[in-house]
Amino acid sequence: MKIGVLAVQGAFIEHKNIIEKLGVKCVEIRQKKDFKDIDGLILPGGESTVQGKLLHKLDMFNLLKKEIENGLPTLATCAGLILLADKIENQKNNHLATLPVKVKRNAYGRQLGSFITKADVGHLNNFPQVFIRAPYITDVYSNVSVLSKVDEKIVAVKYKNQIGLSFHPEMTDDYRIHQKLLEMAG
Ligand code: GLN
Repeated sequence: MKIGVLAVQGAFIEHKNIIEKLGVKCVEIRQKKDFKDIDGLILPGGESTVQGKLLHKLDMFNLLKKEIENGLPTLATCAGLILLADKIENQKNNHLATLPVKVKRNAYGRQLGSFITKADVGHLNNFPQVFIRAPYITDVYSNVSVLSKVDEKIVAVKYKNQIGLSFHPEMTDDYRIHQKLLEMAG
């Protein structure tokens, strides 16, 4: 099995380290050819506007969208979730638009920009959630399952082959969500 982590910008190394700790090969995706033979994909946190621009500049946008639409198991965190979202509040342009949700960027404001809490994520009890200038999900469409809410705000969803998270599981030593991706990819 081989997992790819999008490595054009942002917190990709942390994800790679976890996948390797779990005993699975992980490649950094920096160009089109790196998509070859991957069984699962991670879209890391960082800056969604920069990541979106780089995907076009590196000519990876259409391939990435097609792979996800064709069912490649995908775990997206924070900026990654924004890349997947069909709608972005107060913003005209979206990115991959493979996940039928609406997100609000930097939704917790500047004061409360970063915080840590614990909440259930689907059947995973008490998952540590690290939020860093995080988005949350303001609306879900189609058959999107809500996996987690914090203070009434949706912070984790699943839709077919895609898991979208507002928070950063790669900044904790709880690997259960990464394990879930490996199950989906296996
Ligand atoms: N605020 C960032 C964005 O809009 C996301 C922050 C993160 O990934 N930690 O892209």
